[in-house]
Amino acid sequence: MANILTITLGGHDIACWRSKNACKCPSKTLYTYLTPISIGPHMPWTKLWSLPLPSKVKLFLWKDLQNLLPMRARLRKFIQSINPTCVLCHLKPETTSHLLCSSTASTNLWQSMHRSFLLICPRPQLLPGWHQKSDAQVLLAWMWWYIWKARNHIIFRTQPWNPRDILKQVSRAVHEWQIANDLIKDTTPCRQPAETWKPPAPRYLKLNIDGSFHHQTKTSRIGGIVRDHQGSLIRAFAAATVAESVLDTEIQAQLRGSNLYLQMKT
Ligand SMILES: [Zn+2]
Repeated sequence: MANILTITLGGHDIACWRSKNACKCPSKTLYTYLTPISIGPHMPWTKLWSLPLPSKVKLFLWKDLQNLLPMRARLRKFIQSINPTCVLCHLKPETTSHLLCSSTASTNLWQSMHRSFLLICPRPQLLPGWHQKSDAQVLLAWMWWYIWKARNHIIFRTQPWNPRDILKQVSRAVHEWQIANDLIKDTTPCRQPAETWKPPAPRYLKLNIDGSFHHQTKTSRIGGIVRDHQGSLIRAFAAATVAESVLDTEIQAQLRGSNLYLQMKT
């Protein structure tokens, strides 16, 4: 302590990390800040959770950034019987940076990825960039996830390391996740808030129609309702049809509603 106090520092004191609950700053916070794996207190953690990735992958990223993944070199600190060496090369300690970035196996895999996806992907060491929503960062996260899974399969299922399989899995995952998200967007309601129905003038009737269309199956559903100036139901219809587009569906609903209206007049 006496030696620390003799160190001469220039400039003014500044707060480098925020205190936690009840204005306490426990030693763990300081330790986390000073350890090399730390990426500082300014990491926008909330943005990490908004990345276009499944929750399991985002949780994996979060654990990695917090240095919580059960790497064998880390587990060795707690359990002496664990072999700390890398399962791929059996030469160096298994750490995150070695397994995912610098080992010969992973380096070859990254080079194959660059060729397969024709993408200049930032190296995984660029941790602070992970919160940015770029295609490269998302691809990087998928790669990292499947390298981790392959490592686990070697240990727990005695499966061999297969770079080609990993690339296939990454490609399929990116593709399927994209399709799933596009489908979710398609079903998001586009009318917010709902329009308020306005009644027709007395002695008049009002016809309202609507329809829905499914792009993949080319099926549609149409419906309509006729009400008077008090909002009382006069007639209604609903039907399943085959259509080519949203406009086609709307036109079919309009025609069906017009026919219903004409039938009422005769
Ligand atoms: Zn290795």
